[in-house]
Amino acid sequence: SLPPRLYRETVEQLSVAISVTDTEANIVYVNPAFEALTGYAVKDVVGQNEALLSAKATPRAVYLELWKTISGGETWHGKLVNRKKSGERYLAELTIVPVKNRLGTIRYYLGMHRDITEIN
Ligand code: FAD
Repeated sequence: SLPPRLYRETVEQLSVAISVTDTEANIVYVNPAFEALTGYAVKDVVGQNEALLSAKATPRAVYLELWKTISGGETWHGKLVNRKKSGERYLAELTIVPVKNRLGTIRYYLGMHRDITEIN
């Protein structure tokens, strides 16, 4: 299997913004592409909730569906209106994958997102 250093180097070199959270969406890891996209450095976001990215413009029903899906162990795909550290809004296309342990209990969520503002 892939050694831990290789996993890290792989994730760090992806061009898609990656974040890993606990089950409450508190951030435990972000990759350099996440820092570049959002303008937030690792130290700004580790320990903060992903809600810090919210531009407060996404309908509540979208978040309810997101949480229903991921807490049920399924992958969620969708679009959220986000805000960078600079205050600039962007449309994020997001995939959130629940990461489970061997017993099937959700331990983390893996978020992958890109800015699709230009496309829409
Ligand atoms: P909240 O009160 O946090 O959430 C709204 C509703 O969602 C709640 O009333 C509740 O019904 C449900 N909910 C919230 N937390 C939980 C929980 N732990 N278990 C079950 N249901 C829950 N949001 C963004 O706006 N932009 C992002 O880029 C983004 N990325 C995310 C990435 C990951 C990996 C995860 C796990 C979440 C992400 N979120 C993102 C969602 C974020 O954590 C917030 O839920 C969301 O921003 C709404 O925040 P809020 O404070 O307005 O409302």
